[in-house]
Amino acid sequence: MSDLVIDADVGVVGAGPGGMAAATRLAAAGLSVAVLDEAPRAGGQIYRQPPVGASASVGIPEPPSHDQGHALIHEFERARLLSVHGATVWDARPGRLWFEHEGRSRLLRCERIVLSPGAYDRCIPFPGWTLPGVVTAGALQVMVRGFGVVPGQRALVAGSGPLLLPTVTALLGAGVEVVAALEASSRWRALRAAPGVIGNAARRREAVWYMKQLWRHGARLQWGWTVFACEGDGRVQRAIIGKVDADGRPRRGTARTIEVDVVGAGFGLVPSIELGLRLGARSRYRPERGGYCLVVDEEQRTAEPTVFAAGEICGVGGAEVAAAEGAVCASAILGELDGRAAAPEVLRAARAERRAADTMLRAFAPLPGLNELARPDTLVCRCEDVTRKQAQQAAEVHGDSMRAIKMGCRAGMGPCQARICGPSLQAMATGQNARVMDRPVVQVPLKAVRADTIRNAPEAC
Ligand SMILES: Cc1cc2nc3c(=O)[nH]c(=O)nc-3n(C[C@H](O)[C@H](O)[C@H](O)COP(=O)(O)OP(=O)(O)OC[C@H]3O[C@@H](n4cnc5c(N)ncnc54)[C@H](O)[C@@H]3O)c2cc1C
Repeated sequence: MSDLVIDADVGVVGAGPGGMAAATRLAAAGLSVAVLDEAPRAGGQIYRQPPVGASASVGIPEPPSHDQGHALIHEFERARLLSVHGATVWDARPGRLWFEHEGRSRLLRCERIVLSPGAYDRCIPFPGWTLPGVVTAGALQVMVRGFGVVPGQRALVAGSGPLLLPTVTALLGAGVEVVAALEASSRWRALRAAPGVIGNAARRREAVWYMKQLWRHGARLQWGWTVFACEGDGRVQRAIIGKVDADGRPRRGTARTIEVDVVGAGFGLVPSIELGLRLGARSRYRPERGGYCLVVDEEQRTAEPTVFAAGEICGVGGAEVAAAEGAVCASAILGELDGRAAAPEVLRAARAERRAADTMLRAFAPLPGLNELARPDTLVCRCEDVTRKQAQQAAEVHGDSMRAIKMGCRAGMGPCQARICGPSLQAMATGQNARVMDRPVVQVPLKAVRADTIRNAPEAC
């Protein structure tokens, strides 16, 4: 058989903490495991390793949780498994994963699948968000930690959720002046996160480490503030920032202008569920977990019994949750093969991590008022150049479902397939609360791949 088709007992998508934890355990038990990841090296988003030969994040201090990451990567890289990097999975059905690798169209055939493809940044459009120099908070992190790129001299970091802290500390570590670090949630709302941090030793250590870093650099988070707009001639030069109310609505009379040359705006993360939906999994809207998440049973099994899921795809929760749920996937699969249930202590550990994460993230659930930052002429879909006004007109004429808005103005139909605009598009077009948003519609290819890859896809048999 040609090397375009690989066979394995278990196929794992994603070599982040969730995928690595599952794959390492399954391989140690003697199963043949193939891991597909589009990144050049293992680690996922949080433990991203610089490309071979680059000395990217040298000198930038790492939080204590990264010790766990190094250990996971160490075990993963020594495990007897097949790890294919630069492999983009673009279609799937139970037992089959189609992927593009080094320009070739390949297929993985397997008995079971573990999905751990993570999440992506939640963007909330505001005037000037498409100017060069304005990127997501996650992207800033990736530039600094993953590629050693110093993105500017004077940075603004704005948005909501725990990802702001690693972004700010990465920039400070790289010698960038962080002019302002703005968290849209109020200090009082954020206090709701406290039990999830105080009750979990690892998160407590992590929080103390971040506070010390901020203190060392004389930086601080401003609670209840956000970016209203960015301006500049050809690229960002100024940001208008101001206070927001408890729902995220801009407060009049609070705006002020600061000079910056780079802006990281990240309003949390959105679970990357497309692959799961394509494989027959069900999803549910959970705002504290970032939006639509896959529904899994206690053993991380989806509605399609041969497909398991771990980490952010089941709801944003962080690396500890992902690793613990990856371990559950492995234990459940090994249990199935032996005719027993997953190990109770592994289930207990994952439940405890998830509970702590849910408690913490409830304080950072998306604030609906932030959808009012965009003006009528603000682009809401940057792939198809659709403004807020055009999206609103489409909703008035064609109906306020996500599908009707897309059909009416092409928003969400470009290369990103609504990954960027989708989470806020419907709310912006209709003025409705984001909680009533429709489930994402999944189209193949799930990721942008070459037309030849689709044309030459190996047969499923
Ligand atoms: C840009 C970004 C930066 C982040 N930085 C931090 C941080 O500094 N600190 C922190 O605590 N949390 C961070 N997070 C959150 C972090 O993602 C999670 O806490 C943790 O990494 C989740 O683990 P996971 O295994 O679920 O997914 P991830 O670690 O995200 O791993 C998913 C992997 O799946 C791969 N993948 C996805 N889709 C496909 C596909 N179709 N085909 C092939 N491969 C695919 C990706 O390349 C990735 O390597 C970040 C998130 C993002 C989006």
